[in-house]
Amino acid sequence: MEENRVKKTRIVLVPVPAQGHVTPMMQLGKALHSKGFSITVVLTQYNRVSSSKYFSDFHFLTIPGSLTESDLKNLGPQNFVLKLNQICEASFKQCIGQLLREQCNDDIACVVYDEYMYFSHAAVQEFQLPSVVFSTTSATAFVCRSVLSRVDAESFLIDMKDPETQDKVFPGLHPLRYKDLPTSAFGPLGSTLKVYSETVNTRTASAVIINSASCLESSSLAWLQQQLQVPVFPIGPLHITASAPSSLLEEDRSCIEWLNKQKSSSVIYISLGSLALTQTKEMFEMAWGLSNSNQPFLWVIRPGSVPGSEWTESLPEQFSKLVAERGYTVKWAPQMEVLRHPAVGGFWSHCGWNSTLESIGEGVPMICRPFTGDQKVNARYLERVWRIGVQLEGELDKGTVERALERLLVDEEGAEMRKRAIDLKEKLEASVRIGGSSCSSLDDFVNSL
Ligand code: UDP
Repeated sequence: MEENRVKKTRIVLVPVPAQGHVTPMMQLGKALHSKGFSITVVLTQYNRVSSSKYFSDFHFLTIPGSLTESDLKNLGPQNFVLKLNQICEASFKQCIGQLLREQCNDDIACVVYDEYMYFSHAAVQEFQLPSVVFSTTSATAFVCRSVLSRVDAESFLIDMKDPETQDKVFPGLHPLRYKDLPTSAFGPLGSTLKVYSETVNTRTASAVIINSASCLESSSLAWLQQQLQVPVFPIGPLHITASAPSSLLEEDRSCIEWLNKQKSSSVIYISLGSLALTQTKEMFEMAWGLSNSNQPFLWVIRPGSVPGSEWTESLPEQFSKLVAERGYTVKWAPQMEVLRHPAVGGFWSHCGWNSTLESIGEGVPMICRPFTGDQKVNARYLERVWRIGVQLEGELDKGTVERALERLLVDEEGAEMRKRAIDLKEKLEASVRIGGSSCSSLDDFVNSL
């Protein structure tokens, strides 16, 4: 007799409560929804993403946690992740248990959890649900984390403290140097490595999905495919496949009007993502360098991103004067729209993976000023592998800023970078079209469920 099988059509998503992780997870949700799945998003009470009109078809659930306001303020991203994984395990189990009881049939096709939300594993194991790990960073960063999770922490720490070693290429990871590895400014090396070994442990997951494309990182993807015991599906960039606005802060669209008044490819757009902090001294060197260059600039200065200041009010008046000369500042920009604008000629970025994909996706070359973690990996790839970026290393001074802007926006070198960036943009677009590698990979993933 033929088995009467119920088609499982619900996918449960578990994003990290941070902009750079929520955005690609919601895009993944959109992509899977377009393939016919129902989407349930399980948020912790620390996510601020809401069921906006863009996600009206999604079902949202919130699991409680016990972190206080002061924990949230003082923990720092790394300890926050560690804590979150401790406190959410039980509440997530309860949530999934309830979800299964409420469904008239057991219709969960799989649980897709962010690599940093590894507490999800306990629930999927208990209820014997299929699970998939979603990596919101680059494949190369995943490779680095896998390699780092196996190093001897003590001798690695000694190597990392030696200035000569820092400049050497790390064996097997060319062109990444020791100093480009995704060590974190958010906590001691020991706990960073501990988090990494958790994120690269696929446990009983049946697959890994990566928000990247083979035209960007074929050798890192091949490495992962060989090393991980499960299929790896590169299905990115998701912002092209399934754009889904999920900004946690309000976008200031007045900058688009300002951009409309600028010359084609003349503006440098500056944004350091949702978490990075900039010291006052560095802000000054940036402002001076920008002001001395003849280029207009659009600068996102996030509230709270300058330590000791709500916004820019504690900076001396001279700062505002420098900025006002030929710049425009906002607290948060509609980044995709900005990068797509013809006036934008370059992107000064901290090189978070979403910003990197968004810039390449619009063919915009970059000034790379990484701050921590995988941003350093991305910056090195932008400069040395894809050759569409100028990296600023070491202490910043106004002369270096001015020179970098000239290289990117005025010199022939910048024009060459722009051509390569446009070439990559076209490759990325091809990869998400029918028959392209990421499009096929997404279909393969769906068929594997
Ligand atoms: N972003 C934005 N407006 C801004 C600055 C950033 O919409 O003014 C978005 C950007 O488009 C990207 C995300 O915030 O999708 C930042 O993610 P990324 O991985 O680049 O960096 P993170 O914030 O995780 O460090």
